[in-house]
Amino acid sequence: MFTCQTETKSSYLSGVLANLKAKNSFEPEFLQAAEEVLSTIEPVILKNEQEYKDSALLERLLEPERIISFRVPWVDDNGKVQVNRGYRVQFNGAIGPYKGGLRFHPTVNQSIMKFLGFEQIFKNALTGLPIGGGKGGSDFDPKGKSDLEIMKFCQSFMTELQKHIGQDTDVPAGDIGVGGREIGYLFGQYRKIRNVYEAGVLTGKGLEYGGSLTRKEATGYGLMYFMREMLKANNIEIANKTVIISGSGNVAIYACEKAQQMGAKVVAMSDSSGCIYDKDGIKLDYIKEIKEVIRGRIKEYLNYVPSSLYSENNSSIPAVYNIVADIILPCATQNDINLETAKLLVNNGAIAVGEGANMPCDNDAVKYFLENNVLLAPGKAANAGGVATSALEMSQNSMRQFWSFEEVDNKLENIMVNIFNQCQNASNEYGYKNNYVAGANIAAFTKVSNAMKAQGII
Ligand code: NDP
Repeated sequence: MFTCQTETKSSYLSGVLANLKAKNSFEPEFLQAAEEVLSTIEPVILKNEQEYKDSALLERLLEPERIISFRVPWVDDNGKVQVNRGYRVQFNGAIGPYKGGLRFHPTVNQSIMKFLGFEQIFKNALTGLPIGGGKGGSDFDPKGKSDLEIMKFCQSFMTELQKHIGQDTDVPAGDIGVGGREIGYLFGQYRKIRNVYEAGVLTGKGLEYGGSLTRKEATGYGLMYFMREMLKANNIEIANKTVIISGSGNVAIYACEKAQQMGAKVVAMSDSSGCIYDKDGIKLDYIKEIKEVIRGRIKEYLNYVPSSLYSENNSSIPAVYNIVADIILPCATQNDINLETAKLLVNNGAIAVGEGANMPCDNDAVKYFLENNVLLAPGKAANAGGVATSALEMSQNSMRQFWSFEEVDNKLENIMVNIFNQCQNASNEYGYKNNYVAGANIAAFTKVSNAMKAQGII
């Protein structure tokens, strides 16, 4: 698919893929994520095919170590009992405690949890820090809920989850629908039930109780550090480039902030309803007010900047992608960009795409971008700054230290430069020029598979 070969040469790899499809036919997102990785690591497999086959390395890698699924009952403000489903996928612990966020969104199901957990294994390996891959969440919809309802849901969710996590076992963090408020309620309930101040059990905490400076900004800033390195390697300056961003949550806001600091001009942002376009450049303070303080809709930007324009999402192409820009930053959700949208973006002259979200480009879109020489920063590398800084938060918790904003930001920047170099080196070594998707998969797979081999058949 993204390989330089036209057909699969490894019979082991094609057999594993066929078996995976048969076994997981009702999990399209997981299959998509797995297929993307498998289609790029073939040159590595071919170097030592028999050994991978004899130890069933790929079969073990593709099967989560554990999936926990549980009932989350809670009582809403009207006294009605609600029941949601909670998950934690502990996918692979070969290089450290499971680590990955919690997503609260009505679309959450086992396929989405498994795709996110699978991606997380490779992302965490690329950070160079000792963290394994996991993910969790619930089909709970936080939109329109009161603070009290959010607290009651988080308490019920943690009442079950606490049996399965710990600072040396599994360390959750935030994701879509889980920000500082939710992490606070989850941490409070963990502390109450376990009667221990175990700061390292969750990351993304408030600064008053064990959080790290720069964690809030880390995913968005990290995305732009990676983007800068990728453009630099191709002799392109980031200053004065126009940027559009899908989403207006945590990742989108801080990607916008860093892009502006780097001299780029962000002209559009969105939410699931539609997008705003400000030809003079987005005024980020208003977005922060709308999204972080009043928890409103992006359309409300019109109240602050009447000269801006708003478009509803009312076609198969999300409205934000109709706006012409050099750099495209999908920072909302998976499969936001399909082939049709990719064609439009290429036609409009896009030069680079940076995946702030997890798997925002579907596999056809990825292929089309690469074939049309659009530089693509893959999510598992480009958005790894969030989890890397979570690991720095864990280090500070263990050492009972609190580092300055600059100290954490410098470490984050170094980590992102290092991740880019790993992707570039691996892509060059295996003949995938400028294919950082393949580079990220190969570099991460090599590390994880070596750790698995060393630990025997478990
Ligand atoms: P937030 O909840 O803060 O923001 C999510 C944003 O995406 C909102 O603007 C939301 O709009 C939009 N969105 C969500 N679902 C959809 C949808 N189905 N269609 C269109 N828009 C949608 O989440 P984050 O910013 O934390 O996460 C965004 C992405 O980044 C996710 O893919 C996440 O997995 C990934 N990520 C996050 C990290 C982090 O540190 N937070 C780390 C690495 C990756 P609306 O409000 O209308 O729903």
